[in-house]
Amino acid sequence: MNKKRKIIIIGGSAAGPKAAAKARRIDNDAEVIIFQKDPDLSMASCGYPYYVGGYFDDRNMLLCTPTGVTRDPQFYLNAKDIDAQVNT
Ligand SMILES: Cc1cc2nc3c(=O)[nH]c(=O)nc-3n(C[C@H](O)[C@H](O)[C@H](O)COP(=O)(O)OP(=O)(O)OC[C@H]3O[C@@H](n4cnc5c(N)ncnc54)[C@H](O)[C@@H]3O)c2cc1C
Repeated sequence: MNKKRKIIIIGGSAAGPKAAAKARRIDNDAEVIIFQKDPDLSMASCGYPYYVGGYFDDRNMLLCTPTGVTRDPQFYLNAKDIDAQVNT
């Protein structure tokens, strides 16, 4: 019997969720976990200057997919069966 792999990723900004998504693609059965120190996941830090500069006032837009879905732990669970633990 094959043992299920457990893949743990430290950090959940840009590189972490990317690594987790890749891990899911190559192993559909693995348990994939992200530990993210901050409360936000997949934060588009490149957009911060536009937020700070007042081009938009909804900070949540920095966390959304192009279709407006917030990339929170529930999103990662639903979309990719990834256990993303924030503030961790
Ligand atoms: C204002 C600004 C503008 C930018 N513009 C661009 C651009 O135009 N184009 C471009 O390509 N790049 C741009 N960047 C850079 C881009 O955002 C970074 O390259 C990218 O965020 C790097 O992602 P990362 O996941 O490697 O690291 P980080 O974004 O640094 O994320 C690391 C994450 O790991 C977490 N973490 C760290 N230690 C631990 C731990 N021990 N346990 C749990 N979690 C931990 C941190 O809290 C953090 O959330 C910009 C960045 C900024 C700030």
